Amino acid sequence: MNGEVSPFAPEAAELLRRRYLAVGPDGRHESPERMLWRVARAVAAAEERWDGAASAAAMAGRFFELMAGGLFLPNSPTLINAGRRLGQLSACFVLPVEDSLESIFEALKQAALIHKSGGGTGFDFSRLRPRGDDVASTRGVSSGPLSFMHVFDVATEAVRQGGVRRGANMASLAAWHPDILEFVTAKQTPGRLENFNLSLWADDAFMDAAAQGRGWALRNPRHGRTVATLEAAELLEVVARAAHASGEPGMLFGGAINRANPTPALGAIEAVNPCGEQPLLPYESCVLGSLALPRFVRGGDMDWPALEEAAALATRFLDDVLEINRQPLPQVAEASLRTRKIGLGLLGLADALIMLGLAYDSQPARDLAGRVMARVTAAAREQSAALARRRGDFPAFANSAPRAAGAKNMRNATVSTIAPTGALSLLLGWSSGIEPLFALHYHRHMQDGQVLELTCRPFLQRLRALGLDSPANLAALRAQGRASAVQGLPAAEARLFATAHQIAPHDHLAMQAACQRHVDNGVSKTINLPSAATVGQVREIFLQAHALNLKGVTVFRHGCRMEQVLRLSPAA
Ligand code: UDP
Repeated sequence: MNGEVSPFAPEAAELLRRRYLAVGPDGRHESPERMLWRVARAVAAAEERWDGAASAAAMAGRFFELMAGGLFLPNSPTLINAGRRLGQLSACFVLPVEDSLESIFEALKQAALIHKSGGGTGFDFSRLRPRGDDVASTRGVSSGPLSFMHVFDVATEAVRQGGVRRGANMASLAAWHPDILEFVTAKQTPGRLENFNLSLWADDAFMDAAAQGRGWALRNPRHGRTVATLEAAELLEVVARAAHASGEPGMLFGGAINRANPTPALGAIEAVNPCGEQPLLPYESCVLGSLALPRFVRGGDMDWPALEEAAALATRFLDDVLEINRQPLPQVAEASLRTRKIGLGLLGLADALIMLGLAYDSQPARDLAGRVMARVTAAAREQSAALARRRGDFPAFANSAPRAAGAKNMRNATVSTIAPTGALSLLLGWSSGIEPLFALHYHRHMQDGQVLELTCRPFLQRLRALGLDSPANLAALRAQGRASAVQGLPAAEARLFATAHQIAPHDHLAMQAACQRHVDNGVSKTINLPSAATVGQVREIFLQAHALNLKGVTVFRHGCRMEQVLRLSPAA
């Protein structure tokens, strides 16, 4: 790009142009370097309030270097909207839905405004009375949570998120809700609720009842009385069958989520963002950001001081974002500034592990990932405490869990989250989040019809280093996407390049657990299963995930969905 600085992968140029680069009055797109300066300056301007204009300008330079060096990127809404008219910078929102038509349609309107601003929304529908229940004011009967979810789904279809992508929603329903069976099986019919991810909200009481073979009461939230009972294990079986067939619903573990709730005095957490990694209170939003792990690999080891320094600077960046963020609703601004939640995480774990010579499904790889997140969270907390001394604690700090645990100051109720990094990983050309490689070469189909052709860069580097990058080998790699397609690769190295479906489900789970232990919020992760996996194995994974104190779990059985986003070849 004519001598300009850009950390972006060449394959992502079109994605960058279509979604991220601002268009000037002359109809031309800004350059990637201009985009990063736009973001760095807008975010650092928040610091003028405390440190003056000269210092804020210097900070803009440091933020620019952090992003232009490919070390860190904030979530997509920040890249797209910072320094522009919209100015809404958060990816994640949760909206409350109460049991009244007014509340339901108010939430619908609020969701539309959030989608328009570029954010995704999560809802708990458990407060709605079940289908067929009385409606006193009209002497009629309620149509139940599912029928209202369809209204949200249709509305989402009509409002493109931030003008650049389809809206994303999460709906959760508590395991005790009378409509739970209808909810759990709602997406078994293709084409239904396509703008929603569904999750069963499973508290410890339900998981224990399922594990111990006890009965389970379904309660009407309108009056709290039991209206039916079933076997908890049977309900879990229905969930496992549905997830086995379609990947949905996922499970959210209310016990683990609320044990980690940093501000229980403000209420219990009942919902999460669309991809599930960010538990939030009603009306809270959260801004996420990710460190690109491969950039911190030096000479066969992690550059720990560089990682910690970047984590601290990224934390400052995300806290600044909260200052300049133009929230789409006053309730969201208020709730989000009460706790000032941010979520720093990472992307490119799988690529970094290859560069370090560690197989994804090995204990040393899990130790490394755990150590990375421990250092990132510790550095972020230290920075948050330092910021608090200068700028003030988050307003709900006095009654918070961090305070009770001995923290003297804290600017942010949470500091870390592992996001899917669906777009960010494409922009930087690394593997996404903490997921293993999908394939060594594959095609990714974007919502707008674009097809990106992607290759695992550390694998190519390894082929070159071994002199194995012959045209025949590269063609075989493109056709098959697997290490075994390549002639001459030492057999001992094959495990290093194992892809998602070659990694055993329990190793997926173990990696999620290794990271979750050191993350304040949740971890975005899919547990891939071979197509021959059984419903019983899915149920086992749910029970294990709960026992591991995970905040949630999502499974995906190979080939179970008609439409797959990731494909080995463009036509397959
Ligand atoms: N998200 C969304 N719509 C999308 C993708 C993501 O609303 O199409 C939100 C959602 O809350 C998700 C979060 O952004 O959990 C982070 O997703 P990801 O890391 O994939 O976003 P990126 O910053 O890479 O675009």
